[in-house]
Amino acid sequence: MSCDFLQLARTPVQQLSPYVPGKPVEELARELDLNPADIIKLASNENPLGPSPKVLEAIEKALPELTRYPDGNGFALKQALAAHYGLDMAQITLGNGSNDVLELVAKAWLEPGHNAVFSQYAFAVYPIATLAAGAECREVPAKDHGHDLDAMLAAIDADTRVVFIANPNNPTGTWFDISALEAFLDAVPEQVLVVLDEAYIEYASGSELPNGVKYLSRYPNLIVSRTFSKAYGLAALRVGYALSSPRVAEVLNRVRQPFNVNSLALAAACAALEDEDYLFRSRLANDQGMEQLETGLEALGLEWIASKGNFIAVRFGPDAAAINQALLEKGVIVRPVAGYGMPEYLRVSIGTHEENARFLGVLKQVLVNDA
Ligand SMILES: *Cc1c(COP(=O)(O)O)cnc(C)c1O
Repeated sequence: MSCDFLQLARTPVQQLSPYVPGKPVEELARELDLNPADIIKLASNENPLGPSPKVLEAIEKALPELTRYPDGNGFALKQALAAHYGLDMAQITLGNGSNDVLELVAKAWLEPGHNAVFSQYAFAVYPIATLAAGAECREVPAKDHGHDLDAMLAAIDADTRVVFIANPNNPTGTWFDISALEAFLDAVPEQVLVVLDEAYIEYASGSELPNGVKYLSRYPNLIVSRTFSKAYGLAALRVGYALSSPRVAEVLNRVRQPFNVNSLALAAACAALEDEDYLFRSRLANDQGMEQLETGLEALGLEWIASKGNFIAVRFGPDAAAINQALLEKGVIVRPVAGYGMPEYLRVSIGTHEENARFLGVLKQVLVNDA
């Protein structure tokens, strides 16, 4: 008899369900025998602009050093980030995507007997990281699909080590304002770490959303996580970072893999941080695309959750899964969010003007056939 290695895995690992990513274009092309060039993917909140030429140039320059290990301390990127934010290099922890940072937090502070508090409809990596560390997930019911920060405060107890909050949140796009964050940070016990996940914050700047970086000096228990995957357009390279007090960063760095961010990613991130024009264009395209989608969805009589991210959760009711399938068959990949407890919604990432138009056109056909 062969042994069951799932049964032999640590108990919390047996309870895990793996993260389900957006369907890759090539996979759909294989499954439905479609031409990849005819498929659009609006499923993973990726930047539709394509890479910045400055980033491509920086990567090319780094290529001759491929046989060498990367700088394990990421000196140049940390220096650039420190200057960018007016922080000390000792406040920065680099991650293989900000996903890595979230896992480092769980690895450093969570174990059996502890719990992590996060919201219903929050990012799927929070429960995965928490469970993998053997800790308990305290999922707090959402309010109007967003974080109920008061209820999250009330859920904190003596065994809570970490609270994960996302602003804006994925997959809902919901957000909280400056006064809500300030009241929350004031009320969280000082020994509880607050991870403020700002993966989409660059899309929301200039709005009423708080900038987490401003609160670091006041709250030594605050960890702000950010990424180059979204507005900076480097999702494939996997680079993100945590900003925190030096003490917290020192702990995070103890559990970090020595070379967790590769050389090409480091070089690309330095170039991306300097490329303000790209960031400006990302924001502009997103604002315009959001308006385009909202106008189109309204014309189709659909409802959605107001979003400050580069995506929008649209309500399709009980037919959401069937509509998703019909969209796939027409070469349009969006993201089902049933796994997030939102079976009546599909999440649509903002694409280029042409992609958004194609999505709306195909959606219209699908809804007509469905009626
Ligand atoms: C996309 C995303 C991240 C970051 O992903 P990385 O590519 O690992 O940096 C983090 N948090 C949320 C809420 C996200 O949607």
